[in-house]
Amino acid sequence: MEKVRLQKAIADSGVTSRRKAEQLITEGRVSVNGDVVAELGSKVAAGDRIEVDGVPLTAEEKVHILYYKPTGEISAVADDRSRSTVTDAFKQMDVRLYPVGRLDYDTSGILLMTNDGEFTQYMTHPKFEMSKTYRVKINGILKRDQQKEMRKGIMLEDGRTAPAGVKIIRDKKDRQMILELTIHEGRNRQVRRMFEHFGLEVLKLTRIRYDFLTLDGLAEGEYRFLKPHEVKKLI
Ligand code: URA
Repeated sequence: MEKVRLQKAIADSGVTSRRKAEQLITEGRVSVNGDVVAELGSKVAAGDRIEVDGVPLTAEEKVHILYYKPTGEISAVADDRSRSTVTDAFKQMDVRLYPVGRLDYDTSGILLMTNDGEFTQYMTHPKFEMSKTYRVKINGILKRDQQKEMRKGIMLEDGRTAPAGVKIIRDKKDRQMILELTIHEGRNRQVRRMFEHFGLEVLKLTRIRYDFLTLDGLAEGEYRFLKPHEVKKLI
């Protein structure tokens, strides 16, 4: 294993956040191989014995969960306005889970939850962006030429979107449409903005596929643990 910063090693073990780990270090409560390390900046390698208040760190088991996020939850660990967050469903677990990326408050669907920092980094790195499919209900019709444009890429205020998959599921004559949009990027509010580009409002948005993962067998608010072979397939 390459060397990592001491505060990262402490945070990765799951005992606390990186910021709190820095505080523990500067308070002189951390030792490495028996010597107190009270300054930030030192690095540790696999096999180094780290203790906090004299208690050795043990690596926390890594957990990977597929959560069917309902609407009405913030994709964060805490909310300063006391709204429900995606961690509420996992309060009884004694691991500190956080979401991999985010879904809007009004979006439902697949959200991965984990305590695995390396997994999160990989899954959210632009270079490895997974394909994600959204089922979208809009308050109008995305015309054929607009579908074509969306497939090729459209100009948003933060740049051109990459080619997308557009599949019409239901083209209601009462001027609403349901479609599936597959994208390989994860920009903020991207799907909503892609439809806003054509003057269309998203009425309902659900992430139904994340790479090969689907919502099969889950109801809103439910979750399941990913199997080791699924985690391997993702990274
Ligand atoms: N795109 C959006 O606009 N919102 C989401 O929650 C996810 C993708």
